[in-house]
Amino acid sequence: MELFWHRRDLRIADNVGLATAADRDETGPVAPVFVFDDDVLAHASDVRVRRLLDGLAALRAAYRERGSDLLVARGDPAEILPALAERVDAERVVWNRDYSGLARERDARVRRALAAVDVRREAHHDAVLHEPDSIRTNAGDPYSVYSYYWKKWRDRAVDPPAPTPEGDALASTAALSELTSTETTSTETTSTRSDAVDVAVGELPTPADLGFAEPDVDLDPAGTDAARERLEAFLDDDVFGYAEDRDYPARAATSRLSAHLRYGEIGVRETYAATEEARVAASDRPETDAEESVEEFQAQLAWREFYTQVLYHNPEVVTANYKTYEEGIDWRDDPEEIAAWKRGETGYPIVDAGMRQLLAEGYMHNRVRMIVASFLTKDLLSDWRHGYDHFREHLADHDTANDNGGWQWAASTGTDAQPYFRIFNPTTQGERYDPDAEYITTHVPELRGVDPELIHEWPDLMAVQRANAAPEYPDPIVDHGERREAALAMFKRARGEDPDE
Ligand code: FAD
Repeated sequence: MELFWHRRDLRIADNVGLATAADRDETGPVAPVFVFDDDVLAHASDVRVRRLLDGLAALRAAYRERGSDLLVARGDPAEILPALAERVDAERVVWNRDYSGLARERDARVRRALAAVDVRREAHHDAVLHEPDSIRTNAGDPYSVYSYYWKKWRDRAVDPPAPTPEGDALASTAALSELTSTETTSTETTSTRSDAVDVAVGELPTPADLGFAEPDVDLDPAGTDAARERLEAFLDDDVFGYAEDRDYPARAATSRLSAHLRYGEIGVRETYAATEEARVAASDRPETDAEESVEEFQAQLAWREFYTQVLYHNPEVVTANYKTYEEGIDWRDDPEEIAAWKRGETGYPIVDAGMRQLLAEGYMHNRVRMIVASFLTKDLLSDWRHGYDHFREHLADHDTANDNGGWQWAASTGTDAQPYFRIFNPTTQGERYDPDAEYITTHVPELRGVDPELIHEWPDLMAVQRANAAPEYPDPIVDHGERREAALAMFKRARGEDPDE
């Protein structure tokens, strides 16, 4: 018997660790387990707990279809896994690597605890196509500039999808129930360590059991089947126009795979192999940039791995600036302005639409994420950490590496190769990427029926024009032109330069 510990890989297909364990006939079937880790739960949110439970329900269903089930426990994995391994007499615990700092510390503790009870442990390369240490500059350093990283990433050979375990390779439901029943194991001593572990076969808690509320959010369906449907539909059509359409939020032309990739409901090898098939199909397509579009999509998968390696090599960026400024940045941090931004009531329509999409769907379009992040940091002059915390609470696809990377990029404290003066103008961004205000009016009902031209000019209209057009919608809380100058001065001071020069 071997235990396979699921963490952020809630799938059976294209799962390297699971496939490897299942392939070893000599150790018998694999028992899959998920541990609700108290440390992880301490930093979770209502939305993410709901999304996790949805993903776990789909994983459990996939095991049940194969005559197996998912073992579920709660507590410290460094206590639970050794105890469970003893209880079911597992000779090895297998998992896939997670590259964030906290996960690596936890995994080191689990390794030590398993070693102490003589259980073998095995970690696999699964979550990314190319591991953080495998792509370095010619001088041997980690990359800090995406465009160079991408060139190496793109030219590397990739592994094919891992095989899906079938038949007897997975422990049957009956075997799992028998193995985990305390009655069968507690004959030797009355209180063994292994008896202490509370493990259930296929019983998932509710959010309330875990101390969370049911969020009022319209989440996308979870699980491998839903992920595959999304990928297939996207690669059938939208991918061929992706290079152009991906920036227009109303076109909904991106894959929306982010939460699936975050929870590992679809493997990166499977995803990438499907994009390679699309690349072949691209030559027969009418779109002029079909092949470039497929490559542009692959480039987003590379962004995900780029930020994974940034976090891996610099675990401190979770709270600290990646790029430091001599004098430090003197953020303004006005609580009322930040609160209006969070509610989607800044009086800048594209910003408010994005912030409200986040609250309604646990998701926000990428172009709009960049706009709202620039607005918080460069118009409200607020520390990116306020934005990161808010996204972390509300995004179903929250991923420490991507979220942190995106925020620091927007705040000019990250890996952006541009100097600090990248400041988005929210009005021209809205005009350009949502010309008919379709995305805006989907999420900001007060502006429905208002002429798109007026919507885009909203911050520059006279108060009386605004009151006539949409009396319920707020006036702009700041003047973009003034704040742009203030942001430039703030960054000049941070660089030790004279802001008046
Ligand atoms: P697609 O355009 O279809 O891209 C395919 C996949 O590539 C995505 O699912 C994602 O896994 C990856 N990807 C795409 N863009 C990026 C990017 N810029 N950086 C890293 N990976 C990318 N993405 C997250 O997955 N989790 C986050 O918590 C997150 N927070 C962000 C915060 C900010 C401030 C910004 C600017 C971006 C953030 N992103 C995050 C990146 C990006 O916005 C989302 O991945 C994307 O919008 C998800 O939609 P999609 O799946 O349709 O993307």
